[in-house]
Amino acid sequence: MLSWQIMEHGRPLQKTFTETPKPKGAEVLVRITRSGVCHSDLHIWDGYFELGGGKRFYVKDRGCVPPFTPGHEPFGVVEAVGPRAKGVKAGDRRLVYPWIGCGKCAVCKAGQDNYCVSGSRFLGVNRPGAYSTHVLVPDPKYLIDTRGVDDSFASTLACSALTAYSAALKLPKLAPKDTVAVLGCGGLGLIGISILRARGMTNIIGCDIDDAKLDAASKMGAKKTVDTRSPDAARELQGLAAAVDFVGSPATAALGIAALRKGGRYVICGLYGGELSHPLPPIAQRAIGIVGSYVGSLQELREVVALAKKGKIRKAPVETRSAERANEAMEDLKAGRVVGRVVLNFETVAA
Ligand SMILES: [Zn+2]
Ligand SMILES: [Zn+2]
Repeated sequence: MLSWQIMEHGRPLQKTFTETPKPKGAEVLVRITRSGVCHSDLHIWDGYFELGGGKRFYVKDRGCVPPFTPGHEPFGVVEAVGPRAKGVKAGDRRLVYPWIGCGKCAVCKAGQDNYCVSGSRFLGVNRPGAYSTHVLVPDPKYLIDTRGVDDSFASTLACSALTAYSAALKLPKLAPKDTVAVLGCGGLGLIGISILRARGMTNIIGCDIDDAKLDAASKMGAKKTVDTRSPDAARELQGLAAAVDFVGSPATAALGIAALRKGGRYVICGLYGGELSHPLPPIAQRAIGIVGSYVGSLQELREVVALAKKGKIRKAPVETRSAERANEAMEDLKAGRVVGRVVLNFETVAA
């Protein structure tokens, strides 16, 4: 199989040939046709997350050691199945749920693979991912039929839409007039606007520092947009019932938390990096909630796929490029030149 691998953190991905694995037990070998490029791939590429105060979390400490294949938005065709893999056959087109846990611990048994702490097998995070012609999936239960949804868009459901959906589920119960801010209108934020709308919210404010992304936010259904570089931004956002932070920087956190009304909730899922310093008494006095959200569960992905099949999620801009342009896609994303999502096409790549 052919993979685009991190050989050295921060250096261009290298195209490598390795032997295609053979599925054993309940494993399924998926021939990848589409693979979304996510912002967190950039952190994995760099090799660390910024924790603020000069501290870093190094991805090698959770098993992401080069040579490593990133990619956690896998879509493809089942190529081979292990002897105990039930319910799928060669030729089935499937979206792969990438946030795979150990399968044995209490959280995995409760269907929360994404919270597994005792041996997670997240594809493209600590197991070989989808910047490859092939991915080995431990069990057919992680494969979802997305028939009727465009393949490139389907791949983006595995991380960007799922992350946005799971974050939306963590919002308090909102009234129709309540206002929700979406902080950051990149690939996640745009689909986030769409998902909030699908969940009945209409007063959505798209926030970003880039005009093209603010434009895209309006097209996705944001009622209003705010350029967060503007000195009036904090005032314009005052009184939010909730803020969903798809950036996760000290600036977006400060803005989102400060703009909440009493009882409001700030949900962070962006991993930009930095640290939060906030006086404690006002958290109690304002009765605000500060909540983290990390990707989503298998059941949540099934719900996202069901929404997409019904046409309830407006498609964020998706640009499909040949996998041969993987490095260029990463560079473009890093430089902020991508509106929506770039999805790599592996169909034209000879395995
Ligand atoms: Zn992602
Ligand atoms: Zn587990």
